[in-house]
Amino acid sequence: MIMYHTLLVRYGEISLKGKNRRRFEDALLRQVKLSLNGIPHGEMKKTFGRIYIDVDPDRWQDTANAVLQVFGVVSVCPVVRCPLDMDSIQNAAMELAQRASGSSFKIETKRVNKRFPLTTPAINHQLGGYVLSHSPGLTVDVHHPDFTIYLEVRHEGAFLYSESIPGLGGLPVGTSGRALVLLSGGIDSPVAGFLSMKRGITMEGLHFHSRPFTSERAQEKVEELTRLLSPYNTRRQIRLWLCHFTEIQKALQKNPYPELRITLMRRFMMRIAEGLARRRGMLAIVTGDSLGQVASQTMHSLHAINAVTHYPVLRPLVGMDKQEIIDVSRKIGTYETSILPHEDCCTVFLPQNPATRPTIAEAEEAESHLDVAGLVEEALDHTEMKRITPEIDLF
Ligand code: ATP
Ligand code: MG
Repeated sequence: MIMYHTLLVRYGEISLKGKNRRRFEDALLRQVKLSLNGIPHGEMKKTFGRIYIDVDPDRWQDTANAVLQVFGVVSVCPVVRCPLDMDSIQNAAMELAQRASGSSFKIETKRVNKRFPLTTPAINHQLGGYVLSHSPGLTVDVHHPDFTIYLEVRHEGAFLYSESIPGLGGLPVGTSGRALVLLSGGIDSPVAGFLSMKRGITMEGLHFHSRPFTSERAQEKVEELTRLLSPYNTRRQIRLWLCHFTEIQKALQKNPYPELRITLMRRFMMRIAEGLARRRGMLAIVTGDSLGQVASQTMHSLHAINAVTHYPVLRPLVGMDKQEIIDVSRKIGTYETSILPHEDCCTVFLPQNPATRPTIAEAEEAESHLDVAGLVEEALDHTEMKRITPEIDLF
């Protein structure tokens, strides 16, 4: 069993941000610390472009998994630490070589501690020779090695690693402002939420339900999806807003334009979303729309729906294929919950033949029979908030 003592956490993109760097680093560090809440670990130290976290060797994987949920982290390397003498360094390198897979390797040394007696080429030479002579079948390949053993000669000791676990990349949450993500309970919108957070957005969720026509289980499903997204969000929690949409659904049910019902429903959702975003000081709305999937996602529909708001509506999935969306949802663990067969408010009130080419004029004509502002105000007054954290198991 190899003993890892430290994690080397790299954060790429954000180290390039010039004057903003401090703000990005602070947000990243805050989120890393939060993610380690309840997981035993030692000292945490930030140097340029990287963080070192001392770990409990028996639980390094828990620590790594937690850090790997933080946006902005590019990679995590588990590190073997040893004293600054060549015997110890050679033993540590052998441990890594025995664990690695492949038949060729190289050594790459970074000598931060200039008081170490050997030069970098001398270290590479001696260490490479040692590993080679103690590993039958292994060869050195400095251009295309199957694995590399990295050595950092630091003041506090020698750090060795060969494995690098890729992180999520992106920007630390909280560095791009706040936005309201419309969460339906399907496959797409949780992925849209995830991708918004990936670019530094702090998300809040908004779900429309039509109780008693939609069940309590349908709402629990959305709460569970929100719970699965919560570890990624700022402060590892999500404010989920639940809007009682039934009165609007009933009003639309009576409307003499059944083929426009989805368009009108979506226009109401947008207005309510904007109203809530405004109250909460958020500057954008996010949806899980992608182009062409269903009737409400043709360019004509998006045009007619978008016309009711001046807010930026971000659609992170717009260029993705369904399979790509599913791949992300599997990776983040929302897929299995998303496919549970609980009806959502749109399917309950779905018309037979939704219009695929609705126009703004048609929508406005249909809405002239309704008290739009009154219905929106009332729905906003019937919206409640739940704070969702990773810890509550809802199922
Ligand atoms: P999803 O998989 O996210 O349900 P979808 O492919 O079913 O998306 P639509 O039903 O057309 O597509 O919904 C498009 C987007 O509208 C959703 O991704 C979501 O952002 C928003 N939306 C739809 N229904 C609701 C709802 N009941 N509550 C909140 N947002 C909704
Ligand atoms: Mg849906």
